[in-house]
Amino acid sequence: MSSVVFVMIDGLRPDALDKANLPGLQRLKVEGAYTLRAQSVNPSITLPCHTSIFHSVPPSRHGIVSNEWTPQVRPIPGLIERLNQADKRCAFFTNWEELRDLSRPGNLAFSWYANESYNLAEGDRMVTDAALPYLQQGAFDFTFVYLGTVDSAGHAYGWMSDEYLQQAEAVDAELRKILDALRPDASIIVHADHGGHERTHGTEMPEDMTIPYFLKGAIIPAGHEIQAEVSLLDTAPTAAALLGVGAWKEWEGKNLLGVL
Ligand SMILES: [Zn+2]
Repeated sequence: MSSVVFVMIDGLRPDALDKANLPGLQRLKVEGAYTLRAQSVNPSITLPCHTSIFHSVPPSRHGIVSNEWTPQVRPIPGLIERLNQADKRCAFFTNWEELRDLSRPGNLAFSWYANESYNLAEGDRMVTDAALPYLQQGAFDFTFVYLGTVDSAGHAYGWMSDEYLQQAEAVDAELRKILDALRPDASIIVHADHGGHERTHGTEMPEDMTIPYFLKGAIIPAGHEIQAEVSLLDTAPTAAALLGVGAWKEWEGKNLLGVL
């Protein structure tokens, strides 16, 4: 049975691929479809971005515009609710507690988190090591692996600083472990939520808004640079489609399988 793994590398800028040694991401460019010009949402802040990723609407619609969660005024079923309705088993592996609100209670089959380990240099290794046995077993239909330390390095040392690029290399090593653990029938989506400039992000500057985006799987062309515009809003309909589940009618993103 097919499955989808979604790996988030928080705060990764596309030009890091030129400046750092990132063989895992380079491998995804060769083995899958990608664009280095995908777009974040406004405000380009982690929780608004993730809420848009999982609900396929911009912050102006879901109403979460800071890293503080509030209930949606007009709730939209998100990717996890949609998959759960279709009897798909979903799991989260994260190191930032706020992400627990990306799905409503009762919809995840499994959730693992080590709060604030995104502030530790090895924080993403903790997440990856927790997820690997489940990925090897194909335990879940949809698995979200959140890697937060590149963003932390950006805030601490500056985006594109030596320390930031070193952390990107460390996280790429974790990504390679995930790629090696994937079962042959699994698809993988890897992207960032936003970029950054100086020691911050959240604006509509290109440095904050432009993100790298990668897809790989049996039905995804290899070595294909996506020419269509790609947005964070496209992830939920694409992941659902890869699992044979239709988009919710209010989702605004597109199924990227239709533009490859
Ligand atoms: Zn972020």
